[in-house]
Amino acid sequence: MKIEILRVLGTRAQHPAVLAIVDGFTIRWSPRDDWSCTCDELQFPTCPHIPAVENVIAPRILGGTK
Ligand SMILES: [Zn+2]
Repeated sequence: MKIEILRVLGTRAQHPAVLAIVDGFTIRWSPRDDWSCTCDELQFPTCPHIPAVENVIAPRILGGTK
């Protein structure tokens, strides 16, 4: 799985956000919208891309809830 992290702004930023590309799919995170991914639910019933990005970002950047 190819993971490209484009932007990581932690919860101490004015507008926290994560933007990443995994295997061509766009993964976004924000405190308000939580995680989202552009992959096809039919092709990926349980999206593997979001956990992949979560794995490489320190939990405390996102508020340390995990
Ligand atoms: Zn996905």
